[in-house]
Amino acid sequence: MIQISELNKSFNKLHVLKNISVDFVSGEVVSVIGPNGSGKTTMIKCLLGMVIPDSGKLYFNGKNILGDWNYRKDIGYMPQIGRYPDNMKIGQIFEMMKDIREKNEGLDEELIEAYNLKSMFDKPMRTLSGGTRQKVSAALAFLFQPKVLVLDEPTAGLDPIAAEILKEKILKEKNNGKLILITSHIMSEVDEIADKVLYIFEGKIRFYETVSSIKTITNEEKLGRAIAQLMNQTTNV
Ligand code: ADP
Ligand code: MG
Repeated sequence: MIQISELNKSFNKLHVLKNISVDFVSGEVVSVIGPNGSGKTTMIKCLLGMVIPDSGKLYFNGKNILGDWNYRKDIGYMPQIGRYPDNMKIGQIFEMMKDIREKNEGLDEELIEAYNLKSMFDKPMRTLSGGTRQKVSAALAFLFQPKVLVLDEPTAGLDPIAAEILKEKILKEKNNGKLILITSHIMSEVDEIADKVLYIFEGKIRFYETVSSIKTITNEEKLGRAIAQLMNQTTNV
């Protein structure tokens, strides 16, 4: 579905992505993890065309995406921090997005329903709590039935019930054959929903493995402990 090949990106002297090559296939939840500043968001933004790489290739369904932005309609993106015009009401944001996407049918409104957002359609964005903004961002990401979902720390700031609703939705859409890329620092959550873990450290891929093989290799039941062990092993190589 998505292939990244020898991707490099620097911001001035800071070499943030160092020769990243990785393939993502449909029907999987891939969790992108790594310490703050390791390059996760930069990689995601390259994929979305929001950051232009210095070198390397990005393919979406076999097509080179650089310079051809059509593929972006197949991606739903939930940013780490959703920014919206302060004075617009929730309902207006949804209407505006439908206009921009030129799509009014075949919409997936499950999260709008589950989060009861319609009852808040008249509330201006500036009056919303962080959690409600996150709900709006989540509902927008899934609204246009994209083939790929890119979720940057989606459950940070959501209350536990809202987080559960989102996790269920992620698993449901995975079973519908979608590819879901998700960054998260919460290992129990990664353990619950991810099929594979992509560990990025200082701009390089340290490992890209299935959750079950990470546990088998390390002989650990808990993913957090297993990853800590794997990091120690790879550091010592
Ligand atoms: P992560 O998402 O893994 O926490 P980021 O990809 O956001 O990491 O950032 C990686 C590094 O690149 C950090 O040192 C960050 O400060 C730097 N960086 C990210 N975006 C920019 C930018 N637009 N200009 C300059 N430096 C940036
Ligand atoms: Mg980030």
